[in-house]
Amino acid sequence: MSIQTTNPYTNKVVKSFHPINDDELEQKITAAQKAFETWRTTPIAERAKYLHKVSELMLERKHVLAKIITLEMGKLIAQSEAEIEMCASIYAYYAKNSSEFLKDKEVKDDGGKAFIRYTPKGIILGVEPWNYPFNQVGRLTAPNLMAGNVIVIKHASNVPQCAQMIEDLFHEAGLPKGVYTNLFLESNRIAKLTEDSRIVAMSLTGSEKAGASLAENAGKNLKKSVLELGGSDAFIVLEDADMDLVMKEIMIGRFGNMGQACTSSKRIIIHETLADEFIEKLSNELLHLKAGDPMDKETSAGPMVSQEAAEHLLEQVTDTVNAGAKLIVGGKLMKREGAFFEPTIITNITSKMRAYHEELFGPVAAIYRVKNQEEAIKLANDSSFGLGGSVFSGDIERAIEVASKIDTGMVFINEHTASKPDLPFGGTKRSGYGTELSPSAATEFMNEKLIRIKNR
Ligand code: NAP
Repeated sequence: MSIQTTNPYTNKVVKSFHPINDDELEQKITAAQKAFETWRTTPIAERAKYLHKVSELMLERKHVLAKIITLEMGKLIAQSEAEIEMCASIYAYYAKNSSEFLKDKEVKDDGGKAFIRYTPKGIILGVEPWNYPFNQVGRLTAPNLMAGNVIVIKHASNVPQCAQMIEDLFHEAGLPKGVYTNLFLESNRIAKLTEDSRIVAMSLTGSEKAGASLAENAGKNLKKSVLELGGSDAFIVLEDADMDLVMKEIMIGRFGNMGQACTSSKRIIIHETLADEFIEKLSNELLHLKAGDPMDKETSAGPMVSQEAAEHLLEQVTDTVNAGAKLIVGGKLMKREGAFFEPTIITNITSKMRAYHEELFGPVAAIYRVKNQEEAIKLANDSSFGLGGSVFSGDIERAIEVASKIDTGMVFINEHTASKPDLPFGGTKRSGYGTELSPSAATEFMNEKLIRIKNR
């Protein structure tokens, strides 16, 4: 895949970048390793100053940075601005709290005194996706820089200007050279990079295929990996749910970022008594979305990330409908320039259809009617993914009971699956392993060193 910006609103290539050659890669890894030797002993309060500065710069430049996101991957401009704000808050959160998160942790020891000291390991490689191009990088980078590790990032090939901009922000904040490095690299060079003994661990956010490849290479080289992969989150609506709230949440939960979020509410599992009303209301909402330029604040349905992605979604939806599912609205590419896909609703999906098993990474609401709570739980769990999910009910205790039976890493009650700096984020099953955000991520790539003093 060439490293270039293609504006999905026009499908025109805007800018191309050269991948670095092997010598340049070697220089960058050497610089990162050298930087680690100093960064690991830099006082945490000093590290925090750089991260606070990056956070401030991001907020100052919000409009400029957001436009680059929108240009490269088509996100509606207001959502791009919200992403920058969220990302700035992640840097600020770890800058503020990491000294607390990384304090020695006492271990109960009846023969002496023991504690865990968190020590950094070295260069962490991040392989990141295009769908939240600033945020995803921030989630890996913020806790690790605060912890004394250094970061090299291979970003998705279609967001090179975002990738460059992130590195530029760190340089502008005065971060020492080599502590954060952007690598313009093709994905087929990642396997070789994982063999480099100076790369001590790695994290990938993206598809199952890419995750499996990275994990295989990490395993071969006996290195730790964290994987944040796909999802097909269930959005369960029980018969006592508040329909106004459900409608508000589904529009963000399923159609935010044009449905291209790992935690998007991809399967709507709704009690049969509410299904018709829900479908009617949702159809109405979708028919009133305004397609257009994602830079224009009036637009409510932007393009998908690329023509290729839109065509892949078309194939998944068409195959599902041809297999007997019912198309309520949408289901086609829009007849206009750019990677536009009509906001879509499909129902009557069975386990024999593609939409049942595959992740629909775009603006498609797949609706399943159920007779009761048990059926909802069974259906929610009949997925190879295990990322997030939601339960809507007027009875919180009941919703908690349902949530506890859902096999995922996260469940949100009366809310679409969300993400905040202080809440742990991660999945089970084929959605990956490991945690981002929250205090847990502060130590995810640390050596948890035991130090013990025996009683004498
Ligand atoms: P993707 O193709 O897997 O790309 C993600 C990153 O992996 C890119 O940097 C890509 O580089 C790289 N890559 C691809 N193949 C690779 C390989 N064999 N070895 C090493 N790196 C490789 O994913 P996508 O389709 O762009 O992103 C969407 C997927 O990400 C969805 O499944 C979504 O659910 C998931 N996602 C998960 C989370 C989460 O936190 N769980 C968050 C966001 C997205 P190139 O661009 O150069 O190919």
